[in-house]
Amino acid sequence: MDREIEPLIFEKSNPGSQGYSLPDLDVPAQEIGKLIPKELIRQALDLPELSELDVVRHFTRLSQKNISVDTHFYPLGSCTMKYNPKVNEEVAKIAGFTEVHPLQDEAEIQGMLELLYNFEQYLCAIFGYDAFTLQPAAGAHGELTSLMMIKAYLKDKGQGARGKVIIPDSSHGTNAASVTMVGFETIVVKSNGKGNIDVEAVKKAAGDDTAALMLTNPNTLGLFDEHILEVAEIIHKAGGLLYYDGANANANMGICRPADLGFDVAHFNLHKTFSTPHGGGGPGAGPVGVNKKLEPFLPVPRVVKDGTRYELRVTGYDKSIGRVHSFHGNINVILKAYTYIRGLGAKGLKEVSEKAVENANYMMDKLKPYYYLPYDRTCQHEFVLSAKWQKEKYGVKALDIAKRLLDYGYHPPTIYFPLIVEEALMIEPTESESKQTLDAFCDAMIKIAKECETDPQIVKSAPHYTPVSRLDETKAAREPNLRWLRS
Ligand SMILES: *Cc1c(COP(=O)(O)O)cnc(C)c1O
Repeated sequence: MDREIEPLIFEKSNPGSQGYSLPDLDVPAQEIGKLIPKELIRQALDLPELSELDVVRHFTRLSQKNISVDTHFYPLGSCTMKYNPKVNEEVAKIAGFTEVHPLQDEAEIQGMLELLYNFEQYLCAIFGYDAFTLQPAAGAHGELTSLMMIKAYLKDKGQGARGKVIIPDSSHGTNAASVTMVGFETIVVKSNGKGNIDVEAVKKAAGDDTAALMLTNPNTLGLFDEHILEVAEIIHKAGGLLYYDGANANANMGICRPADLGFDVAHFNLHKTFSTPHGGGGPGAGPVGVNKKLEPFLPVPRVVKDGTRYELRVTGYDKSIGRVHSFHGNINVILKAYTYIRGLGAKGLKEVSEKAVENANYMMDKLKPYYYLPYDRTCQHEFVLSAKWQKEKYGVKALDIAKRLLDYGYHPPTIYFPLIVEEALMIEPTESESKQTLDAFCDAMIKIAKECETDPQIVKSAPHYTPVSRLDETKAAREPNLRWLRS
């Protein structure tokens, strides 16, 4: 384990140091109080005094304490932490993109509009939809947008009384939250012993009060729902719509299109499947695709092509739910995803999905003798193990195993999700890792399983080699203590 060599002084302020040097004034000096109202001028600001080099070293060092895709294997299930090719950043940085103003005249941004138009077409081709909106800034935002459209659609059809949305107990937490935010009611149905949504339970729940069913497929167990066509038929017959949570579409590309399975509307996280770096809250993008039924309800403006010209059209969409984002969405994220899609092409995207599924199955098979595998069937892009054996026999929990992985130099998998698996360890290797890395991670997991037998305390008290030991996870995020001195 490489421990960093760092001066042991935490307080770096050195009175008298400064990080700037300006030339002598060559204009008449002004009295500060004249330019800025006196009451706004603060005296005695207790700021650290540092040279530029001190500041650069401090922040560079802090950045290196982080675990990232660029430094470590990061198998965080449901998050698709794949490698983000640097060429995406290069393209997103081109001045012709970064210096466009959202209020600029359409005639001057034809290139940008063409790109957005084409990007929508690519997404339509990959996922089978008739149209897309690129406005939503995150997966949860895409869910909200979709449910708002479903609501508007039902109202338009005189079905506004339908208020119930069915979701399985394996669903992502944002699903129920989005349902509540648009004023629908969540009806949770159970998954069966194979990890599929229970068809009988769906039949019972579906009726003339059903607005929609929300499903992830492959679901959060990493399993493809084997009865999806039957489920789609039940919901459509009952008069509801099908919503697809495509946050992680890494198993689908070039293989299976959600629109073909019967999903009327879907969101896709560009910051997962399409390689934009994410974590720590953004920025992201969650475009929403719709079939013909829902197209009139898409947010405006729409990017349209009229002959050879592109425009941002607002008029003529009377049924639109309006805007869901200022301007046109997180364009920078869209540019990265666009580059990623163009770089790989149709064949490359299919290979991504094939490889992602292959990697997950390879690891699942290697690890299942050591950790309980609650659903033992071919997985898609991720799989869910349980630390149930370790907990029952040695009192070691999934959290302890996750912390111990940090000592071995890995970002832990997602833990305690999905909620239906006790002591869940949700592993998503993605396509971008080599066999060598997958093997090394599996070896670490196997070593930890053995440590649980021989020295459980070392796992329970992990991590031992990180800059800080075990944190209170909630407090560390909500009340971060960024200084060693409490002020
Ligand atoms: C990540 C994720 C979401 C939410 O996406 P955000 O961009 O974080 O809002 C929704 N559903 C599933 C299945 C996810 O994995």
